[in-house]
Amino acid sequence: MRPDTDTVRALLRRAESVLLAGPHPDRARADAELLLRNALNRDKAWLIAHADDPVPSDSGALFEQWLRRRCNGEPVQYILGEAEFFGLALTVDPAVLIPRPETEVLVEHALDFLRGREHPRILDVGTGSGAIAVALAVARQDAQLTAVDLSDVALRVAAANAARHGVVDRITFVQSDLFSALADERFDCIVSNPPYVARQEQATLTVEVRDHEPALALFADNEGLAIYQRLIPAARAHLAPSGMIALEIGFGQHSSVSALLAAADFHPIETLTDYQQIPRVLSARNIFPLRAEAATSCN
Ligand code: GLN
Repeated sequence: MRPDTDTVRALLRRAESVLLAGPHPDRARADAELLLRNALNRDKAWLIAHADDPVPSDSGALFEQWLRRRCNGEPVQYILGEAEFFGLALTVDPAVLIPRPETEVLVEHALDFLRGREHPRILDVGTGSGAIAVALAVARQDAQLTAVDLSDVALRVAAANAARHGVVDRITFVQSDLFSALADERFDCIVSNPPYVARQEQATLTVEVRDHEPALALFADNEGLAIYQRLIPAARAHLAPSGMIALEIGFGQHSSVSALLAAADFHPIETLTDYQQIPRVLSARNIFPLRAEAATSCN
């Protein structure tokens, strides 16, 4: 039973000790504070200044409920329905992957490529929460985007995020298995963070990821390479002359995915590492028009 005279300080202390026994003891204090701040709808400074205030019983009850979910390994982002990506607050639910900081490398790389190219057309394959598409649309107000996903529930989340950031008019959301619903459209930049975790790696994932994030967004057959094996050869028909394809990849997939890009005649291949120095993004250009140009200039 929760005493109805719990203060902010007492609740936090108890929550911390409960979370210390949970799956992420290293985040116990931070999670306790984050959940209580949200249950109270207050910021961190308020929490510190009002440590001796009693917590209203409705907020206290909500906090207890959230605490139990967190103890089961549910990510705070799903509990609160919010995640941050590229400086943007995004809505998330268990139908979509929680955007990862390393995926910002992909967004930055696409923005670098698009610098100086006006009114770019961008395609995000497997948009999920819409994190990549929305971040690109916010950063490039002259861009037109298409965001596809197999999951219609994910597309609804993505559209809500686009609306939240005022870019919904410039993103077309399409339910599609990779390019299947896209007709003949071509794009200056194709980006994707596809499912790439090998099914046999399931047991090595954290409880948060394994038991709470959507399997559809995480796992792929053939050592996690199955989606790249379909996406890369098919991308050629959707990339504009001198366009760029940029893909997030998993740990250890650098050489296999590079080989797939090279086999599809995408060159030159560029590798970008994430904040842990792990190769995380591979990109390549559409070589055909370059070849045509080279042929003309040699004549
Ligand atoms: N980066 C995610 C993870 O490590 C996987 C994302 C993906 O499969 N695209 O869990």
